[in-house]
Amino acid sequence: DGGALAPIPDDVTIPQFLFDGHHPLGGQALHERPPAWFIEDATGREVTGDQVRARVWGLANAMSIRWNIGDGDVVCAYGPNHVDYPIVIWATHRVGGVFTGANPAYTAEELVYQIRTAKATALFIHPDSLKVGLEAARIAGIPLDRVALYDTASGGQHLTVDDLVREGLAQTKRWIEPKLKPGEGKTKLALLFFSSGTTGRPKAVMIPHYAIIANVVQMKQYADIHDQGTPIEKQRYAPGDRVLGVLPFYHIYGVVVSLHYFMLCGATLVIVQRFNLRNALDSIVKYRVAHLALVPPMIVLLCKDPIVKNYDLSGVKMTTSGAAPLSAELTNQLARVLPNSGIGQGYGMTETCTTVSFPQLTMRIGTPGSAGVLIPGTQVRILKADNTWGKPGETGQIVVTGPSMAIGYLDNAEATAETFKDGWVYTGDEGYVNEKKELYIVDRIKELIKVRGFQVAPAELEGLLLDHPDVADVCVIGAPDEYSGELPFAFITPKEETQTRISRAPAEEQRVRDAITEYVTKHKTQYKWLAGVMFIDVVPKNPSGKLLRRLLRDKLKELMKEG
Ligand code: AMP
Repeated sequence: DGGALAPIPDDVTIPQFLFDGHHPLGGQALHERPPAWFIEDATGREVTGDQVRARVWGLANAMSIRWNIGDGDVVCAYGPNHVDYPIVIWATHRVGGVFTGANPAYTAEELVYQIRTAKATALFIHPDSLKVGLEAARIAGIPLDRVALYDTASGGQHLTVDDLVREGLAQTKRWIEPKLKPGEGKTKLALLFFSSGTTGRPKAVMIPHYAIIANVVQMKQYADIHDQGTPIEKQRYAPGDRVLGVLPFYHIYGVVVSLHYFMLCGATLVIVQRFNLRNALDSIVKYRVAHLALVPPMIVLLCKDPIVKNYDLSGVKMTTSGAAPLSAELTNQLARVLPNSGIGQGYGMTETCTTVSFPQLTMRIGTPGSAGVLIPGTQVRILKADNTWGKPGETGQIVVTGPSMAIGYLDNAEATAETFKDGWVYTGDEGYVNEKKELYIVDRIKELIKVRGFQVAPAELEGLLLDHPDVADVCVIGAPDEYSGELPFAFITPKEETQTRISRAPAEEQRVRDAITEYVTKHKTQYKWLAGVMFIDVVPKNPSGKLLRRLLRDKLKELMKEG
């Protein structure tokens, strides 16, 4: 139990909470914060709070007038981070709509899947992602006049956020601001973000406004307890602190922690389009960044790349790692690279609307290897292998509840029933909590693979591979990788004809393996590409046909040991 929690407003949307002073927590931060809310990393351009609010207003009005976007309509953004990205999210919320963010690395096929599953009817595309974005819009049936680019530069060929903002601001207000009844914030959807859960293909997770507001309040309250009595300039999370906004806003960790939590803290976000080590180091120094929210591969680079020692990183005061495990060894190495920074891990998932545990703030380095401590309002139970509940220190499946839990998966009652039970989320992760409320993740029970913090659903790759002419059966698992954490690896049973061909000409085996690898490369984004293919006689299954992934994971470990 992470402790008692202050009341959370359940009758407001996110922009109402953050900007309209409906709640003391949201309102207070507004007048304590510096005028710049965002800084565009590449140009140094500052966007003030007044500009943010005006742009949100204008875009909301234009989306309502032009596209008739309103209550429950879904808007998708496809692209990397940008200063207009949060504007699109909050304008969608202003009109009562629901936002879904797609990874710019997606192929057209993958984007179409997200647009269709989430039922998005308007699409914002970053200029860098234009070609694939337009192709997906065409296939998914989103007409060109419901597509807009963020950024100002389009050469006049396409509608831009800038055009829409100007247009919206020039006209009288048409949209209807949602007026939620008490409790309605718990069901009014804000985000549809994608996760494969414990099994199957990616699904749209239904996240209501209340869940996001609750999670940021939980983190803030947790931080405030630690900062109590500390003068503002010495606090861990002080208004005016600068944050490196490098985590993608289309992932739950980026949108909730990097964006909304730090907005609530009154911080200024340096919005970084894409992570690149040298650029990140330059920006940390140039913008005097105090906060880093990162994923482990970024930390690997910070610890291993020799250029890091040429930079003065003494201004960083807090670093959080999440989305995948950070080893004790890396934690200790990072402490040497960032001499003045608190360091710790958070743990969470899309289905828990992010943070379940957060770095220990009482220590400079959270206990290395621990995934942080439970935050106020969150409760964890441990379901042991014998189906009984564990005591502190005992290992089993982590089962979580709290005010930030998502509602379920859109249009998928079966998967919802499997993961969401009586308000508790069955995470599919294995771990334990000790007496100090520290959470430790030991293993993953669910089939999910995480590559650089991104989800790869084995079922998605298996579905694709089963369509390949040489494949009779397949099981995809995660192979450990120092930089990426894991990489997809396929165990394949070839079709009989393929097998015959291979036995006649042994060189054929390599050719088939290459063809299969190439096939995945063609259809899927890079982080889903196969790191290896191995042929086996039969894919092990239990009597009911369930793939026995653990057996193959053990087999792969043995093979790797043998080199
Ligand atoms: P996502 O919904 O993409 O955020 O993925 C959530 C999953 O990432 C969790 O269920 C865990 O398997 C994994 N994860 C997140 N944070 C951590 C962490 N600190 N340590 C280990 N695994 C983590």
